[in-house]
Amino acid sequence: MKAESGAGAVASAAARSSPLWETAAHEPPRVEARAIRSPSTGVWCLRVICPFCGKKHWHGGGDDDKPFYGYRVSECLIEGRDYNLIPETEKGE
Ligand SMILES: [Zn+2]
Repeated sequence: MKAESGAGAVASAAARSSPLWETAAHEPPRVEARAIRSPSTGVWCLRVICPFCGKKHWHGGGDDDKPFYGYRVSECLIEGRDYNLIPETEKGE
């Protein structure tokens, strides 16, 4: 199954992007993210406090009307740690 080339390689790349992490066996922790939108580009940045290393990490949230949350891999990448971003509880501002 690894000897394919060309179209086979493309197909396996697509398969790899499917959400295999969303299984009962692996449930990433939920982490609140604060969405901050760049006034110049309209791109969302999601700021999280990493549950693994305790530092701030930033993730892109797209440039749609609303930020895109969900699965991310932490920047510190200790053993491929990952989490599931959820909107920060809104407190005005
Ligand atoms: Zn981290």
